[in-house]
Amino acid sequence: MQLSFDSSLCEEVVDADLKERTRSGKSEAPAAFRSAADRIYEKHPPNKRAAPFNALYRRFFGLLGYKDRFERLFCELEGFPGELPLPCHFSRAFRVEEEGARLNAEKTCLSFRIHPLSLLDEGRLAYLIRHERIHVQDLLDPAFGHDETRPLSDGSPVSEDLLRDRYRTLWDLSVDGRLERIDRLPEGVRDQRAAEFGALFRTLGQERTRRIFETLWSGPRREDADLRQMVLSTEHLCEVLAVSVSGGGEGADVDLRAGGPCPLCRFPTFDWADPSEDLTRRVKAEFPDWRPSEGLCSQCANRYLLGMTPAPAGECCGQDGGSLKAAIPV
Ligand SMILES: [Zn+2]
Ligand SMILES: [Zn+2]
Repeated sequence: MQLSFDSSLCEEVVDADLKERTRSGKSEAPAAFRSAADRIYEKHPPNKRAAPFNALYRRFFGLLGYKDRFERLFCELEGFPGELPLPCHFSRAFRVEEEGARLNAEKTCLSFRIHPLSLLDEGRLAYLIRHERIHVQDLLDPAFGHDETRPLSDGSPVSEDLLRDRYRTLWDLSVDGRLERIDRLPEGVRDQRAAEFGALFRTLGQERTRRIFETLWSGPRREDADLRQMVLSTEHLCEVLAVSVSGGGEGADVDLRAGGPCPLCRFPTFDWADPSEDLTRRVKAEFPDWRPSEGLCSQCANRYLLGMTPAPAGECCGQDGGSLKAAIPV
């Protein structure tokens, strides 16, 4: 397997590692690094030091065992096809949300961004690499049928974003369920995935949420065509998984907590709008399975009320008094 590492990533890892060794009294590697660095200072003028320092960091990245650790994590997954048949370049992510693997359009090489937090935490790094490796395995499998260029909906960007969130979450459940089956899932991830799933399909009700989560988690891998169907609505989800549509959904309590995610745009909100009949009609024209009891944030309400999303054909376009709170920007 061909793995390569960005210079800044090597530098970040080696610096953090040496600091930790110094702190815990293991002075051999830090001393060796310092004397090599001193030789660079003596031998090279300031404007010629970047290349030898990059080489030094790379050498220590290997010496301290990081190269081996990455290779081991990439190759170790039992029960999955062996090596990924493509080169992978690791670079540094500046935000945790940027972490993850990306396959180029030709599916010939992989780029993998990692945040320093994951580099310093072996358990977290192991989970990240294993999780992303399974995603990539799916992407490379023609039977999975993934096509990133095809939108999930022909609706507005808001609904495309929501459907993409759902797609990612359903796929993540399947990936992490597979990791659990080979005993490679860290504690707490299952609960976290269950919470993400519940937040994205809020009308299912507790019992159906539990059953569907269990089916997705423990069942066979769902392929792109199924995932595309399941993200469309709770009805589609139940139909694909052969779970009864009735019961458990209507009347289920939806907890509109301050700071909870808006079911439409997915952003945390402290300002829930009050859905009037008109607003409800407009939202339902785009999200048929949304229920007023799920709520929506004021920003989304404003978008619908101010006509930034189309009103359903033949419906009244006026705002009414009940929508006033939602129409006031915060
Ligand atoms: Zn994932
Ligand atoms: Zn919203």
